[in-house]
Amino acid sequence: MKQVLDPERRRAIAERLHFYRDLGVYDFYRRAVPLDAAEAGLAEDATGDAAEDAAREAAGTFDRGSTAEREPMKTVAVLDKPAALMAIRQELGDCKRCPLHQLGRKQIVFGVGNAEAELMFVGEGPGADEDEQGEPFVGRAGQLLNNMITAMGLRREDVYIGNVVKCRPPQNRTPEREECATCSPFLMRQIAAVRPKIIVALGAVAARTLLGMNDSMAKLRGRIYDFSPALPKHAPERAAEFSTKLAVTYHPAYLLRDPRQKKEAWLDLQMVMRYLGLATHGRSGEQG
Ligand code: URA
Repeated sequence: MKQVLDPERRRAIAERLHFYRDLGVYDFYRRAVPLDAAEAGLAEDATGDAAEDAAREAAGTFDRGSTAEREPMKTVAVLDKPAALMAIRQELGDCKRCPLHQLGRKQIVFGVGNAEAELMFVGEGPGADEDEQGEPFVGRAGQLLNNMITAMGLRREDVYIGNVVKCRPPQNRTPEREECATCSPFLMRQIAAVRPKIIVALGAVAARTLLGMNDSMAKLRGRIYDFSPALPKHAPERAAEFSTKLAVTYHPAYLLRDPRQKKEAWLDLQMVMRYLGLATHGRSGEQG
């Protein structure tokens, strides 16, 4: 049913949308309307045609005289990515969902970086340095990841970095399947909150968890996959449809052990750079 919005309200919404555009926020989505609110007539302007009118007004495309010709606009509520990430972190709380919480972790290592990033890296799980500092990829492997990011012409603060599991496995062992399965819904939600243009899965654990495939790295590398995060049923991020791309490369810790593979990793990163429209010529994959 067409909602009628009073002009004052419409102007306020248009102003708010201008404000977000000035901040560089262009990404909007339509928030799902709770059924009972809709039935009670409470779900008017933020989701209805009237708000779409306001959004079009803010975008300078609103023609008051020709309502019949108006095209549907699918973007209304602002997706506040930092707030979405904060909400996920809050829900994670002092997580005790899997055995890792009692196997010596010092703290949960949630994720770090730019909530508006176009590029997201996903590793396996925190090591000793990350457990100490509460930030992913801050040890030796992190230093190499930083160099890889720099080689791509980006800065660490341009990207978002997360892990499949958020607690350090004892002795840096590989996280177990059950641990990955318990923790990865939070990673999926982080992906859906940041909505990167492309994800780089670092190593087999990240690649297999995200893609749900059990193939070898040799098979997984070398192509760009379509990827939609498998979101938990009640995750608010489900309200906005989202799919992205994913590439697989070697884990930096593996590259430290076998530096001859760095040139292969550089080929993977160049593929990602081309996808992102980043210049590859004149750049060297010397990642230190
Ligand atoms: N290795 C990972 O997979 N993640 C980190 O955060 C650090 C090392």
